[in-house]
Amino acid sequence: MVQLAPRTAQRLSPARWLSPLKQSPLSLVESLATPHAVDSYLALVNPMLTVRRMRAVVTEVQHPTADSVTLTLKPTRQWKGFEAGQFVQLGVVVDGVRHTRCYSPACSQYRGDGRIVLTIKAHPEGIVSNHLQRHARPGLVLDLGAADGTFTLPQRRPGKVLLVSGGSGITPVLSMLHTLCDEGYTGDVVFLHYAYTANDVPHRDELLALAERHDNVRVVLAYTDQQVGGDLHGFFGKAHLEAVAPWWAGAETFLCGPPGLMRSVRDFYEGAGLAAKLHVEEFAPAPVALPDGEVSGAITFARSGVTAENSGSSLLEQAEAAGLTPEYGCRMGICFSCTAVKKSGCTTNVLTGAVDTDPDREIQLCISVPNGDVALDI
Ligand SMILES: Cc1cc2nc3c(=O)[nH]c(=O)nc-3n(C[C@H](O)[C@H](O)[C@H](O)COP(=O)(O)OP(=O)(O)OC[C@H]3O[C@@H](n4cnc5c(N)ncnc54)[C@H](O)[C@@H]3O)c2cc1C
Repeated sequence: MVQLAPRTAQRLSPARWLSPLKQSPLSLVESLATPHAVDSYLALVNPMLTVRRMRAVVTEVQHPTADSVTLTLKPTRQWKGFEAGQFVQLGVVVDGVRHTRCYSPACSQYRGDGRIVLTIKAHPEGIVSNHLQRHARPGLVLDLGAADGTFTLPQRRPGKVLLVSGGSGITPVLSMLHTLCDEGYTGDVVFLHYAYTANDVPHRDELLALAERHDNVRVVLAYTDQQVGGDLHGFFGKAHLEAVAPWWAGAETFLCGPPGLMRSVRDFYEGAGLAAKLHVEEFAPAPVALPDGEVSGAITFARSGVTAENSGSSLLEQAEAAGLTPEYGCRMGICFSCTAVKKSGCTTNVLTGAVDTDPDREIQLCISVPNGDVALDI
């Protein structure tokens, strides 16, 4: 039984007091729980008992490589599933501060038990990835967002599929491979994965088992720092592509990996005039291009009482450079974790080029650069 503090009841508006019977049982309970969400009370009993918020409990933890962790998560009932290639947002509390990060499930979208598998590579200095790699245990409850993203297979499956990944970028394309296999897809699939060495390939046995079970699936492991073992050595290039998928020009290619690999593959497809055949997912943000011409003005972080000279970089980076720690997630405009109110000034959205001069507008700090003086409510 949840006990409500007396002041809680005083905050209810008269309309909500007078017409309790017109409300659904859930909204009535929510009214009574105001100003806290019902889920905040339920979390005291069991964090997996939620009305609105989606959460997930870690049911299994594995360390497939020295610097990564694979988590199996069981979501609460609000989970509606995902499409192979999409990502979810994970809310993780580290040292009392909640952080949000994006992770792409690595399992089939058809997984029978409704659980999702995430593989997370620990980045040097990375807050969330290191925390989960070191401390995640079965029973840990995390906040979970609905699946999102457009990096997915076309509804009408292509005749041939080339999946290219490197490092932690293996996850969304592995999900695509599992999903195609579960569908009984019969077209040719090549899964070309780049890693430093054999010891750096998460899900290696799983990949080899898929290739073993499906005649149309070929798994090619390319090692950049290991000259023996594996199928290919060195970095991506035309020779690799011709060796493993000579039909690549007629296939749809899905790519996710570190910036160097992404650049090489993109350049290659653009050079071949086949950029439309290449579908990409970025895990790390591209550097924000500084505006042409002179950078001027000052950024005022009103709530923190800090003012700094405009350096021209994103407002998120400028806030961090000024010693502030605003919340962020993807740093590339996907997750909206860094949204804040711009009180005044002019900003440019670096993704869309849209210029915003209105006061009291919510903007995404990670993809907004200031044009002159800007004041933010952080
Ligand atoms: C759509 C999407 C899906 C993703 N899926 C996965 C996934 O399946 N598995 C996975 O391991 N990661 C994935 N990521 C990356 C993940 O969201 C985090 O960025 C990563 O775990 C680092 O977070 P952190 O809190 O440890 O690092 P932070 O504390 O945020 O950053 C610490 C340092 O690491 C650098 N850094 C942050 N992220 C990266 C990165 N991705 N690559 C290189 N340097 C980085 C930062 O610039 C900073 O210097 C995905 C990202 C996106 C946008």
